[in-house]
Amino acid sequence: MKTTRRRFLQTAATAAGAAATQELAHGQEQDPDHEHQAAPSDMTLRVKALESLLVEKGFVDPQALDAVVDTYENRLGPHIGARVIARAWSDPAFKQRLLADTDAAIEEMGFGGQQGQRMVAVENTPQVHNVIVCTLCSCYPWSVLGLPPMWYKSTAYRSRTVIDPRGVLQELGLELPERVEVRVWDSTADLRYIVLPERPPGTENLSEEELAALVSRDAMIGVAKAQPSREGGQA
Ligand code: FE
Repeated sequence: MKTTRRRFLQTAATAAGAAATQELAHGQEQDPDHEHQAAPSDMTLRVKALESLLVEKGFVDPQALDAVVDTYENRLGPHIGARVIARAWSDPAFKQRLLADTDAAIEEMGFGGQQGQRMVAVENTPQVHNVIVCTLCSCYPWSVLGLPPMWYKSTAYRSRTVIDPRGVLQELGLELPERVEVRVWDSTADLRYIVLPERPPGTENLSEEELAALVSRDAMIGVAKAQPSREGGQA
């Protein structure tokens, strides 16, 4: 199962790499004198130029920009979502609040509110398995999961998850019995989903902190299950 998962991820990564290579080749065609130069991408250069101008004109504080980058690169991440899930597993009243008004429940824990979008938690049960995708681009619950993984943004994942969710899950290493209904949730700029995975059996005596360690990013996207032990979990 791990092999097929790796193959899917490799395909997504290779597709992204091929696009980048094409772009590079295209650039070299136009400017043969710079064929050995590893220049930043057009987008990177444009962002740098824009930032320099804005700083020079005093419209933005470079430290404020660094803080924004630091937030998305280091502070936000699946560890936040995992704590929310662990709380829901440990506290039935919190779980009800999370399902009824996800934003308010997440805010109650001191998280959320990064992009102004609405969050909705969808609960996995023995009968229903939820998986999230953004068919249009890469909308993702950043405030609780951080930046989306590369494969989430890949055309393969975005297009195939809605056509054949069961097949995609299988390739990612998650086999679901036929009797389980698979529900696909298409995220948008205004509405982001997070999966509330099933609590693994045999975890009744674990603390909230120990439970959080069992909740991987992939489980909250819905392409994996929460693991019954930390060793079996995915980073
Ligand atoms: Fe999107």
